[in-house]
Amino acid sequence: MKNIITDESIDLLILQLIKGDDYMYPIKTKKLVMTSGYGKRTYTLNGKKVSDFHHGIDLVGGTDILATADGVVTKTVKVGKKGGTMCQIRIRHKDYETAYYHLKSGSIKVNVGDTVKQGQVIAEMGDTGKVTGKHLHYQIDRGSNLTSIDPYDYVFNDKVITGITTGLYKVSARAMAIRSGAGTEYRIKKIKEVSTYAKNHATSQKATADTFLKVGTEVDILELKNGKNNSIWGRTYSGWICLYSHLFKEYCKRI
Ligand SMILES: [Zn+2]
Repeated sequence: MKNIITDESIDLLILQLIKGDDYMYPIKTKKLVMTSGYGKRTYTLNGKKVSDFHHGIDLVGGTDILATADGVVTKTVKVGKKGGTMCQIRIRHKDYETAYYHLKSGSIKVNVGDTVKQGQVIAEMGDTGKVTGKHLHYQIDRGSNLTSIDPYDYVFNDKVITGITTGLYKVSARAMAIRSGAGTEYRIKKIKEVSTYAKNHATSQKATADTFLKVGTEVDILELKNGKNNSIWGRTYSGWICLYSHLFKEYCKRI
């Protein structure tokens, strides 16, 4: 089985990025400061050293908390206190959820089932739950199993979130390498349907053209897994393809 196409060579094949929702600060403020980033961390809470995996980012600055995209409220905890119950909101968007933690007790303005608009004020920043001080913990969970991703680029660098779920996709890169097997069971049946660019690339990589899918090919994603560096891979009938890379580039668009 050939497996000679690297993530880097896939990057070279990108023709276009697909635009999705626009992202915005989850807090109404001109100056947003991140006090704790996403990922493994060690900190001191009540004099004790704690190590954990931080599934979101901690933000300070401002008071009003905003929904970062249109969605439907799936969870609220409206009453809490510092060191005790944490007040929170979760919002379901197209293919992902956002979470807003440590909200001020009694400040939550939405109910479960409510439709919210991007930019709508949903609560106030607070210090409920296990916190060292007042802040917002903002989290993005994506995919069928709601895996957290690093929200930093979406909040601070206007990146676009892509919903990743199983189902039918269309290849949006110029050509997509299949990591195992030949693409005989895709909706693309014949090698001649693969673009010239993909064929040339395949030849230069000593791969066969039928291990590539050209842009526009429709493909069923049956299963998802997380790859290295925040990439997401989808299993097709013929093998695995990268749906989303570590550079947050989208290779396939959900249809
Ligand atoms: Zn946090």
